[in-house]
Parts: sequence; structure tokens; C-alpha cells
Amino acid sequence: MHATIQKPIEEIVDHIDPKEKVFVVGCYNCAWKCHSGGPEETEAMAGRLIARGVQVVGYATPGPQGMSLCKLDNTRKVLKEDYSEQTRQADAFLVLACGQGIHTVIDATDGSMVHPGCDTIFGGETVSATDIEEFCSLCGECVIEGTGGLCPMTLCSKQLLNGPCGGAENGHCEVDTEKPCGWILIYERLKKLGRIDLLDPYRKPKNHAKWSRPRRLRVGPDEATFVSLAGKHTVNNRN
Ligand code: SF4
Ligand code: SF4
Repeated sequence: MHATIQKPIEEIVDHIDPKEKVFVVGCYNCAWKCHSGGPEETEAMAGRLIARGVQVVGYATPGPQGMSLCKLDNTRKVLKEDYSEQTRQADAFLVLACGQGIHTVIDATDGSMVHPGCDTIFGGETVSATDIEEFCSLCGECVIEGTGGLCPMTLCSKQLLNGPCGGAENGHCEVDTEKPCGWILIYERLKKLGRIDLLDPYRKPKNHAKWSRPRRLRVGPDEATFVSLAGKHTVNNRN
């Protein structure tokens, strides 16, 4: 899931031109789970904006529940058909979702002006109803086969691939003393799995071109193609 947090209301209002008519859009998946842009927050945002003098022409959280705003065909249908009267009046869309959702609104509305209502923080695991934690940095070349499934790119502050820097104190990282050393976590996990041997091989530097932006993925039932500065990488999903 993409973790998002709302921007302060003063910052949001500051970016809206007083003459602008605004339609507020939420997301019924990730932003809903983050309480940053579900139906309740979207309706509330419309009211908060009106109370501050913003001209709000409507609001919507394209459903059904669990539907991602970044699903273009659904978002387009909801904004261009179900809410066509209100969205036609809108000069801009305030989007309570991640950057992917914001771009989806641009595409769904044929290039309308958008305002981000949230900061997108990371892709994370929903570990409880109140906590989302980051375990993958979406690097495009996964190396956690050798680390018991724990990601050194994410859990180690220096993104070291071949073991700890040696600066940890009492199990905590020297860069961020609030968090455990990622490499101690990896070591403890491999020890528990009886696979300390996985630490032996040298891990070559990663191909950071696979982390270039923007990247693309084309998917089909039989094969998928990942495109980055590292080139095109196609895999067959069947054979
Ligand atoms: S190595 Fe890359 S893809 Fe694998 S978990 Fe870490 S950041 Fe994610
Ligand atoms: S203390 Fe641990 S987590 Fe922090 S930078 Fe060093 S190896 Fe990485």
C-alpha cells in the first residue's frame, strides 16, 4: 500500500487560487486505510475548504470500497460520467491520494489542473489498523534471497549490501538511533532460520539503473516487461 499523510490545511489552501472552483477527490483504497483520503476525509476536506472560503463544486471517493484511485478506467467513469455536472464546473481537482492517484486524476479528466492534498511517504505493510511500516524501497532488483527476506536497502540506513557498518550500539543504528540496526535484524533472522551461510557470498553492487525514474511495466497473462534505464526486461509467466 502507498502510505500518505494529509498536508496541513493552510498549505493546501495556500496553493488554491481564490478564483478557482475545486472538486475534491479521495481514494477508497490506500488513502482510505491511511485516513488521509477516504470518503469521510474527502467530505470533511470539502467542508474545511468551504469554511476557509474555497469554492468547492463537489467531492467524490470513487468506489466501491477497496477501489484504488489509480485504476484509471474507474476514476474516469466516476469523474467524467457519475459526477460530470460538478466536474465540468471545476477549474482544479484537489486529490487526497498518493502521486499515482494524482496523475490518474490528470488522465481521467483530460489534463485538468490538480492540487496534491497529501504527501506520499512510502510503500508499506499494513501491520495493524493504526500502523504502516516500510519494508521495501521498490528498487527493481530484489536481493533479499540472501537476507532471509529482510531488505538491506530499506532496513539499513546506509543501504549496505554486504553486512553491517559496525557502528551499531546496543542493537540500534548509528544513523537513526531510534531504529534497530537492519543488519542485526538480518543476522538474527538468518540465525533463527539456521541459514547464516547465506551471508557468505559477496553481493555485487546493484544495478541502480533499475531504480531510475520513471519506470514502466507492461503486463499480460503470459509475460511482463519492465522498462527502466537498465533496458527492457521481459519474463514469461507461464513456461
Ligand atoms: S531489495 Fe529492492 S525490491 Fe527487494 S525488498 Fe529491497 S527494495 Fe524491495
Ligand atoms: S548501524 Fe546497521 S542499519 Fe545503521 S547504517 Fe550501520 S549497518 Fe546499517
